[in-house]
Amino acid sequence: MTETGWRTRVRPAADVDLDDSFDVIVVGAGAAGFPAAIGAARAGARVLLLEKADAPGGSFAKSLGGFWIPDNAGMRGGGVREDREATLRFLARCARPAGHDPRDPHLGLEPWEHELLGAYFDHAAAVVGELEETGAITPGYLPDSPDYQTRVPENRVGKGRTMVMLSADGRENLGGHGQTQRFVESCAALGVELRCGREVEAVVVEDGRVVGVLARTGEREERIGARGGVIFASGGFAHARDLCRAFLPGSVIGTAAAPGVEGNFVRIATELGLPLHGMQYPWLAPLPLELALADDPGISNVFVSPGDSMLYLNRYGRRVVNEKAPYHEVGLAMGRWDPLRLEYPDLLLFMLFDERVHRLWAPPGGWSDAQVASRWALDTMGNYAYDGPQLIRGETLEDLVAALAARLAALASQTGGLQLDPGFSVAARAQIERFNALARSGRDADLARGETPIEQVFFGERRPGNELPNPLMYPLSDRGPYFAVILSAGTLDTRGGPRTDAHGRVIGPAGDPLPGLYGAGNCVASMFGQGYPGGGATIGPAMVFGWRAGEHAARRASA
Ligand SMILES: Cc1cc2nc3c(=O)[nH]c(=O)nc-3n(C[C@H](O)[C@H](O)[C@H](O)COP(=O)(O)OP(=O)(O)OC[C@H]3O[C@@H](n4cnc5c(N)ncnc54)[C@H](O)[C@@H]3O)c2cc1C
Repeated sequence: MTETGWRTRVRPAADVDLDDSFDVIVVGAGAAGFPAAIGAARAGARVLLLEKADAPGGSFAKSLGGFWIPDNAGMRGGGVREDREATLRFLARCARPAGHDPRDPHLGLEPWEHELLGAYFDHAAAVVGELEETGAITPGYLPDSPDYQTRVPENRVGKGRTMVMLSADGRENLGGHGQTQRFVESCAALGVELRCGREVEAVVVEDGRVVGVLARTGEREERIGARGGVIFASGGFAHARDLCRAFLPGSVIGTAAAPGVEGNFVRIATELGLPLHGMQYPWLAPLPLELALADDPGISNVFVSPGDSMLYLNRYGRRVVNEKAPYHEVGLAMGRWDPLRLEYPDLLLFMLFDERVHRLWAPPGGWSDAQVASRWALDTMGNYAYDGPQLIRGETLEDLVAALAARLAALASQTGGLQLDPGFSVAARAQIERFNALARSGRDADLARGETPIEQVFFGERRPGNELPNPLMYPLSDRGPYFAVILSAGTLDTRGGPRTDAHGRVIGPAGDPLPGLYGAGNCVASMFGQGYPGGGATIGPAMVFGWRAGEHAARRASA
């Protein structure tokens, strides 16, 4: 076998006639790619931004555009002084709870993880400032917005780190969709050339350096050189079935990530011989199973499960997780294993609610066809109470259980044959009675629903009729109709890949940067390990390390 016979994703420069050349090539126009391109262009580089899909944005365009920035300008302006070491301890605990060791110089993390967390603390706020100065974003500070984890003692600050992307006049929250358009405009203003419909399939190497890429567009291949470097910002591998099967826990089903994230960089990195890290830790959140299995491109995760008279039951009719807990943690909880029955008892959870929730959590006037059709925009807060194909209805509880059982039977080939336990109806009735009693008492003695600050922010709004002490709970009606949505533990995307340093340089097997190769966002290993410290924890680092990679590659081009 020749060198190039099987290494199709790594091509020697001697075999490649370049069509064109830039200072910096960025692969993927999403949360990491736009800031990378803008950072490089601002530093004076001639930049090419290659996007696989026909339109830019990736998963970022589906997102709420929240981003998590420690020690940010808004916090400082409000007099909050964040202690670097305390924050690193908090993040280390989130990232590797089982390895956490406050006496270890790296806090029980891998040294590279510790280095990246430190770099993030040191540079994140400055990069946000640079992006703002460039006119690419208008950051919105939310001083009272809580982190997802506020119960751990290491989190001394606990709020103010989640930020949003506003319109230039500061009046509107653009979300990922609107911000994508703004990033496109910033790129154009800085002379970044954006080419869509380009799938980067291979890197070009020369003397151990990455010097270009091969990008497929239809039948054609574009061969493009990069003097300063190639920055991968191509998202994770959530849509690559083989990689998901190889690396993700067996309890994970489905994704809401953009269709383009198919693990191209993992495959390239593998051929480059780069060690992979964090492949087993996706960003998790419940997903409406049926939309996930149908590969519905408009699908969104259930970030905020609607309703007070709503609960999740497993196939035994039991409540097993606080329905309002942060979505990633709910996803982790769904991976519980039963060693005697050889099953994941919580593989699927059934979001059960009554007519009250269906009515009160709908927009005024009900769901319009357009709203249902554009459900990604509608549902970035995860309100799956609308009348879509995921909604199961029963006039009585018995009807609902029968309808649920029929749906599960139809889905059996894709869920390992999961069915309701024969005791489901009896257990569900008992569970509902217990839930109703807890709701009336105002305290969820079983699962502590409504007791953390983030639950109050996401769900605390009291809806008419609920005068009970805990606004997040209300007894389910004893009359139908009832509704259910089948949930799986799905992903926002994955976050494993080769590791990088504080400049976004990809690190080779000997621990040195591989010259000319950079990565940011979900295509490289996350310093957050298994954790999800707060809203925006995926986009924050993608933007910050994307920008830093862009700057570094631009400097390299001009050296
Ligand atoms: C519904 C939803 C809401 C979310 N809300 C938030 C939120 O508010 N805050 C938060 O922090 N996170 C959120 N996320 C997660 C967040 O969107 C992603 O983690 C983030 O966008 C990842 O950034 P990225 O740059 O790595 O990938 P992306 O933003 O997905 O960008 C990657 C791009 O690379 C392209 N690409 C892939 N392969 C190639 C190739 N070979 N050649 C060229 N281009 C390629 C893809 O098509 C894509 O456009 C949300 C996710 C979803 C699904």
